[in-house]
Amino acid sequence: MNKSYPERAGRVVALCGGVGGAKLAFGLAHILGNDLTLLVNTGDDFEHLGLTVSPDIDTVLYTLSGLANRELGWGRQGESWNFMEALSTLGGETWFRLGDRDLAIHVERTRRLRAGETLSTITSSMVDHFGIEARVFPMSDQKVSTVVATPEGPLPFQRYFVERRCAPRVAGITFQGAVEADAPPQVISALNDPALRTIIICPSNPYLSIDPILAVPGIRSGIERADVPVIAVSPIIGGKAVKGPTAKIMAELAVPATSKAIAEHYGGVIDGLVIDHADADDRETVNCPVHVTTSLMTSDEDRIRLAGEVLDFAYRLAPNAEAITLRRGQ
Ligand code: GDP
Repeated sequence: MNKSYPERAGRVVALCGGVGGAKLAFGLAHILGNDLTLLVNTGDDFEHLGLTVSPDIDTVLYTLSGLANRELGWGRQGESWNFMEALSTLGGETWFRLGDRDLAIHVERTRRLRAGETLSTITSSMVDHFGIEARVFPMSDQKVSTVVATPEGPLPFQRYFVERRCAPRVAGITFQGAVEADAPPQVISALNDPALRTIIICPSNPYLSIDPILAVPGIRSGIERADVPVIAVSPIIGGKAVKGPTAKIMAELAVPATSKAIAEHYGGVIDGLVIDHADADDRETVNCPVHVTTSLMTSDEDRIRLAGEVLDFAYRLAPNAEAITLRRGQ
């Protein structure tokens, strides 16, 4: 934790998907330590080879603990693939790759779920084992499944994302089970915490990573009730996604890949949007306060700098902004 950051910065809740979101989460966690609570998408979770896989939670755990595989962009560093190779020789399913080290988290999670523990309890215990200071929770302990409507019919998320590599045209996206899902009690407490200062929407895919979190009624109403600035960081840079299908999905849904469209997508939820210099011309078109910066994170320093700027922007928008004096760097 960066001790030069003011302790009075208060608590922060951030909504996060996988790789893109986890990069900002890393920066926020560096600054805020256990004052940060991450609410992570579980709409991508699925059963595979008899195991419960939670891809976004794992990406967040690996990224925050420094164990993420930066070359691949997913999974663990120093990975080997003996299990996959052996499975292939047995004619098993290999379209979703599970590395030998990565396998451990899926086996352990599945064992504990079967023993009756909740996903939030198991995730908190993983956070401790990985030596992570921030608090990390799934958006719900109940099953919520993202389903992508395509001209070929509905596709479960991982079939669309991994097996079909996002090729089918997206006609719509639904989150099965979301309306009935409860947020874990710790998530509700974090959103109701009087020490909460800011809510941040990380630069994750709005359609596939953030919308499922906002589809959990207790989370959406908790965010709407919280009297703190809600800031989103746009995942679009220069009219394109840094990686993944965000811009492709926007085109397929007839939405231009602009900062204005991102702000409108989060309309009614956000109070401010962070955009990249490459999109600075969009600034006047966005219907909320905007902070323009370099938002591409290629190093740990980028992640920490952007996180600091997002927090500063949020504090400037806070109703009691004058009362909060930032002493960063002192
Ligand atoms: P992923 O699908 O597992 O990568 O998970 P996410 O939903 O968290 O992230 C995808 C989004 O992150 C994409 O729309 C990218 O454009 C965005 N993204 C990735 N890296 C960066 C970055 O460094 N800066 C910004 N602003 N967006 C990023």
